[in-house]
Amino acid sequence: MKIINPNYIYQDGKILENLSIAFDKTIEKIAPHEVLIELFPDAQVINLPQNSLIMPGLINAHVHLEFSANKETLEYGDFLQWLYSVIGNRDELIGSCDLTCMTKATQMMLDSGITSFGAVSSYGMDLEAASAAPQNVVFFNELIGSQATMADPLFNDFIARLDASKSIKREGFTPAVAIHSPYSVHPILIKKALQLVKEEKLPLSAHFLESPAEKEWLKNSDGDFKKFFVDFLKQEKAVSDAKEFLAHFAEIPTLLTHVVQATNEELELLNSSKHTVIHCPISNRLLGNGALDLEALEKHNIRWICATDGLSSNYTLNLFEEMKIALFMHHSADLLALAKKLLQSVTKDAAEALGLNTGEIKEGKNADMLTLELTCKPNEQLPLHLILHGYNISQIYINGKKVKGE
Ligand SMILES: [Zn+2]
Repeated sequence: MKIINPNYIYQDGKILENLSIAFDKTIEKIAPHEVLIELFPDAQVINLPQNSLIMPGLINAHVHLEFSANKETLEYGDFLQWLYSVIGNRDELIGSCDLTCMTKATQMMLDSGITSFGAVSSYGMDLEAASAAPQNVVFFNELIGSQATMADPLFNDFIARLDASKSIKREGFTPAVAIHSPYSVHPILIKKALQLVKEEKLPLSAHFLESPAEKEWLKNSDGDFKKFFVDFLKQEKAVSDAKEFLAHFAEIPTLLTHVVQATNEELELLNSSKHTVIHCPISNRLLGNGALDLEALEKHNIRWICATDGLSSNYTLNLFEEMKIALFMHHSADLLALAKKLLQSVTKDAAEALGLNTGEIKEGKNADMLTLELTCKPNEQLPLHLILHGYNISQIYINGKKVKGE
């Protein structure tokens, strides 16, 4: 047992003072130091410097490790232009991102306080890096393929990758399933995969209504995507519209990434199926997809969480940076309320959506904690300052084990 003595704890938008935390793998008890030391006289005591704050470790629900080699290669500004550049450079990007490159990406996340992440894996090449990472990992094996004739080999390849991820037996590693998107996965494949998801109760994710081009293609089988599908796949029509796609997910709460282009009708369906929206503001801006309407999501009672997406559409994997961009992107939202909501989204809400027992400094939760060095006594605007100032993270604990700091 360890007892850690911060000056402050940040939990549920509030600042708690004069409390210490006794923990092992999980948080055992939160109480004044005198009480804890009496209960656990043999515990190792960790003292922290003046103005230290403990907060939950951050959870990045959506990242693509396999594309971590990108820096200046892909073209930003327009979704289709970006997609063509992904296809044109895919082999080189994937080929040049080895274990070292992907480990650098997981370390980049750790350095900025990310203690859990959801990795969307297209090829399974990131399995080794994800399983060796110090973080809790939900490993989303992605299924893709819009042509019925290719369904069997694609499904077999998906199952082989899923099985490989199931063979990883380590604390904090969860195999999961991702359906790439409504435009890229044939309904036959979706049905087969979701049958498995239901039977095995696997976490589930999908990209949904990211770009204006996707919206137009799903609705009218037209627009910028038409040329793409005709040229690459000789496909004239979308395999599903948005509603048909969502119908597959009606009984399975799913993490839907982007959702920038959804209509009120689609948002209503998201609400009725208790889906969670993953908001990636930097990616959305760089790929010319617009800004998610957070107000509309809240009006429809839809939970949303913030994430970085991969380095294929971001310059960093840092949730503090991502939250800062969100603060400025959603310029008409109340500043402090949005800061609080963003912090909750990458801790408690992301944990719930991914089915992880973490995201809160509460008894019984896994001890995934950050210690931050504030510059002075915090005030009621702390949530805002946490996002703005990039305070030094002196120590990081994951499942009670120290992974960073003296
Ligand atoms: Zn993605």
